[in-house]
Amino acid sequence: MARTRFWDVDRIGPVQIGTHRDRHGRDAHAAACTAPGCDWSADYLNRASAELAARTHRCNAR
Ligand SMILES: [Zn+2]
Repeated sequence: MARTRFWDVDRIGPVQIGTHRDRHGRDAHAAACTAPGCDWSADYLNRASAELAARTHRCNAR
């Protein structure tokens, strides 16, 4: 992921959510898992989707 500035950073379990500006100048919502060995991350168009993904995320690393 490109170096971007995040704000409204939140955490749900091991997953962090942050809002950033995408390359089109729109707000995008990224969810990224911080658990060791789990590289999961994704971008979402709205905060609710990112939060839902964070809540339902299951780590690959166990
Ligand atoms: Zn994970």
